Amino acid sequence: METKKMFIDGAWVESSSGNTFDSINPATGEVIATITEATVEDARLAVAAAKRSFYETREWRDMDAQTRGDVLLQIADRMDADREELARLDCIDMGKPLREAEADVDDAIHTFRYYSSLIKTPHGGVYEVNEGFGKMHSYTVHEPTGVCALITPWNYPLLMGVWKLAPALAAGNSVVYKPSSNCVLSSIRLFEIFESILPKGCANLVLGPGGTIGNELASNMDVDMVTFTGSTSVGQSIMRAAAGNVKKIGLELGGKSPNIIFADADLEGAVEWAMIGIFLNQGAICSAGSRILVEESFAEAFTKRLAERANAITIGNPLENPDMGAIVSESQMNKILGYIQKGVAEGATLVCGGERYTEGECAKGFFIRPTVFADCTNDMTIVREEIFGPVVTIQTFRTEQEAIELANSTEYGLAGAVYTKDGSRALRVIKELRAGITWINCYNPCFNEAPWGGYKKSGIGRELGVHGLEEYQEIKQININLNPGIVGWYEH
Ligand code: NAD
Repeated sequence: METKKMFIDGAWVESSSGNTFDSINPATGEVIATITEATVEDARLAVAAAKRSFYETREWRDMDAQTRGDVLLQIADRMDADREELARLDCIDMGKPLREAEADVDDAIHTFRYYSSLIKTPHGGVYEVNEGFGKMHSYTVHEPTGVCALITPWNYPLLMGVWKLAPALAAGNSVVYKPSSNCVLSSIRLFEIFESILPKGCANLVLGPGGTIGNELASNMDVDMVTFTGSTSVGQSIMRAAAGNVKKIGLELGGKSPNIIFADADLEGAVEWAMIGIFLNQGAICSAGSRILVEESFAEAFTKRLAERANAITIGNPLENPDMGAIVSESQMNKILGYIQKGVAEGATLVCGGERYTEGECAKGFFIRPTVFADCTNDMTIVREEIFGPVVTIQTFRTEQEAIELANSTEYGLAGAVYTKDGSRALRVIKELRAGITWINCYNPCFNEAPWGGYKKSGIGRELGVHGLEEYQEIKQININLNPGIVGWYEH
């Protein structure tokens, strides 16, 4: 099997150590690719290439925005032509159902198209300022930040990368991208597209473990910014590593988001959105609605219907489009099963699922049945910690105030939703949620145009939308004296 390479300074290269790691199809347990594994020295070479591209050759940075936008459109068009292959790669590498992988590729294409347009719209502003030092014209411009390191997780292998690559490149930065070692195949394919389109050195791909390569990128003094999507604990270590040269940072971290269901909600609708909230992508969604809070009088009917529908979910080979695919790796599967055991041990009632799924061909892969726990309380580990799998907890409340308090009783603040036919109540509750992404009577739709990110331990900054571009820009203030000559500040 040919070893898949990294892309540094416009060339496909192997690691200086010669080391490799395997990419495994989680639905079959089979090795599907061998990947070169970067050393810290390789990561430094990638940073040096990005630095040369940004500060010396400057081809990408100095390209006018219209031309740069057109280049991003070319990337989007090439991705469109390769849509099926990109989707298949995420499907076999990560385990998600094909239709979900296809939707991810479509979103990724649209992200490039969106930022190709956004970079051509006006930025900056003109300010009315006082005349203490004479008449001044004061305005701002947005400029690229410089060398940006982009580090992503495995749950949306292509899309999480593109959420960073598209705005960072649109803004004129040079980048070093490190995807999660669990799923690198679609990123490699994306850089094959970049190869013939982008100037040398402005986009570099390094592949390897986070503890060494990721840490090097976060601490490297020639990196001007590090943006990271992943777990809160790694996010904290990135903040510490970035302190050396006071890098700009962007952090999209974990969540334990509440899904609040009042008794007047539409039962079938609330159940289906709750399922989308926790079983999409096998529950590996940062914004997953992993804590269902349901009004006590509605809890029995809701729980019964949720269990019926969860039990009917089809599980199988992701390429054959089941409702749920495989868990990304054996270790992630075991981590989720460990949480399920803990839930039972701590006294939650297992309503459905709760075990590995091994029917037919699935016996060779890593599958878990959709799992619902009822009678949960705030002190339980499964209520407090992010499981990142198809496991949801149900708690009950009696009053609106109690629902809000339960919803906010988490260290995270990424997302949340409320279901009710009472519009005023829906708005009151959403206003009280300490979370960055919220929904009313639905869960999980995500739009390139709208900012994505969390409060509290769920992160710093926003991706997507206008904010997502500004994350990768510096703002410069320019003040022009309209009457050059003596000011008369000093009397002598
Ligand atoms: P992770 O934190 O283990 O790894 C994420 C990335 O960081 C990987 O590329 C990894 O190699 C790298 N990394 C690991 N240790 C590092 C270190 N010390 N320094 C620098 N980089 C390091 O996360 P994961 O298991 O890949 O993904 C799951 C997590 O991602 C969940 O917590 C989930 O909520 C979060 N997530 C958040 C969002 C969001 O938008 N807020 C989106 C998707 C996933």
